[in-house]
Amino acid sequence: MKGKIINTINDLLAFRKRTSLILLLVMSLASAGIIVVNIYSVRILSSARAYVNGESEYSKGQKDASAYLINYITFHNKSDYFAFKNAIGIPKGDHVARIGLMTPPVNYATVKTGLLAGKNHPEDIDNMIWLFETFKNVDMFKKAVEIWTEGDGMIDELGQIGTSAHSEIMKGSMSDDEKRAMIAAINKNSAALTIKEQAFSETLGNISRQINTYVFAANVFITLIIVFCSLTSAAIMIRTLSNSKKKIIEQNEKLQLINAGLDKFVFNVTHDLRSPLASIMGLINLMDDETDLEQMKEYTLMIKESLERQDRFINEMLTFIKSKHTGVSKTECSLSNIVDNVIAQNSHHNGGKRVHFYKELELTQIRSDALKLQVILNNLVSNSIKYSDDKKPEQWVKVKSYRHDAEVVIEVEDNGLGIRPKDQDRIFDKFYMSGDNKKSSGIGLYLVKDAVTQLDGKIEVRSELGVSSQFRVIIPFS
Ligand code: ADP
Repeated sequence: MKGKIINTINDLLAFRKRTSLILLLVMSLASAGIIVVNIYSVRILSSARAYVNGESEYSKGQKDASAYLINYITFHNKSDYFAFKNAIGIPKGDHVARIGLMTPPVNYATVKTGLLAGKNHPEDIDNMIWLFETFKNVDMFKKAVEIWTEGDGMIDELGQIGTSAHSEIMKGSMSDDEKRAMIAAINKNSAALTIKEQAFSETLGNISRQINTYVFAANVFITLIIVFCSLTSAAIMIRTLSNSKKKIIEQNEKLQLINAGLDKFVFNVTHDLRSPLASIMGLINLMDDETDLEQMKEYTLMIKESLERQDRFINEMLTFIKSKHTGVSKTECSLSNIVDNVIAQNSHHNGGKRVHFYKELELTQIRSDALKLQVILNNLVSNSIKYSDDKKPEQWVKVKSYRHDAEVVIEVEDNGLGIRPKDQDRIFDKFYMSGDNKKSSGIGLYLVKDAVTQLDGKIEVRSELGVSSQFRVIIPFS
């Protein structure tokens, strides 16, 4: 039992350790997950922001280039043409970078030079390259790159308008109609590019918003996992603790029952050992006054028998101790033999000699616990002798047995002193003694009741003071 409690405590400690480790592992993984998600999302968002900034430089370059070209076509001022060339260099730089990124193997030096020409911030360039390479196959980013490609095509057209305008101006052959047509083409190109530039920014904005939503969802999801795991682990821990507590309480109760059982057992043995001792004492007293050698031999033989019975009883008790933890042990037992043993054991008791024993057994063979039956009958018969009435001409004890439906009834009846009605309900209590008899210890009937209860039976008493007492033990037949 002690071992069981230690095992339970060890199990509990092992469980707590295991749960704490699992809890810690889940927490660590979830925290690492949150960190990774957030680092990754910050990188994506800042790269997307770099592209949006780049787009505004691209757009500004294109608009400046368009304006300078219109001025050049209108006033033929060469500085406007150079300014046009400079301004268009910005979107063209981005164009070079894009082509570089889309053409494996990627020439990173060319890509970086292109992005720098596109007036992108030098610190953003690595992130821009990373985003392009990581998401080039993701639908939304693919769409942005397509818009960018279309925009680059329009920038090419603008460049071609600039080149042909420059050559016409150099030749001095540009008519007013041609001028108007070129300016109209530049304006048309600029308007179309503005739409593309807005679409590009919008797509990147959508990417950022979608990433924000994903990151938020991922954060909520991971947080929920952490909360769920914590609550589950805590619940398991609480349940295990309360189960273990319950188990320990149950085991304590069992221990107490076992202790109480041991107490009873000691009382039982002590009580039952007294009967043959008293019988031997009686015989020795008789021998003191005896001069007849034959009679003395008979007494010696009786003492020997009594001692042998006591030895048997002690052996039975040892068997009983061994089988105690298995509870009731039912076997086929001869009621007749048990009654004979009990009568023989008690017939030399103080007063036992003058008591007549009657055995009326209708049922002699039952399936029960022989040791417990012995305890029951021994106590009842020894009480009948102890509380016999020597004022009556004949003192008798009757032991009967018969079957009643599925039950066996064993009766021990005497014509002794009888029990007062007010005592009859209490004589089965531990240490209860009615009257003022000095030989009483008040434990016998308590042990009888305990043994009967263990056999799933019951005991009843009927008695009339000064007339008789009858104890009825009713136990299952098998
Ligand atoms: P003890 O072991 O001291 O005899 P028991 O528990 O066996 O105690 O009995 C309790 C009381 O019941 C006794 O003190 C006695 O007064 C009464 N009693 C038991 N059996 C009989 C009986 N057969 N006749 C009269 N009184 C009895």
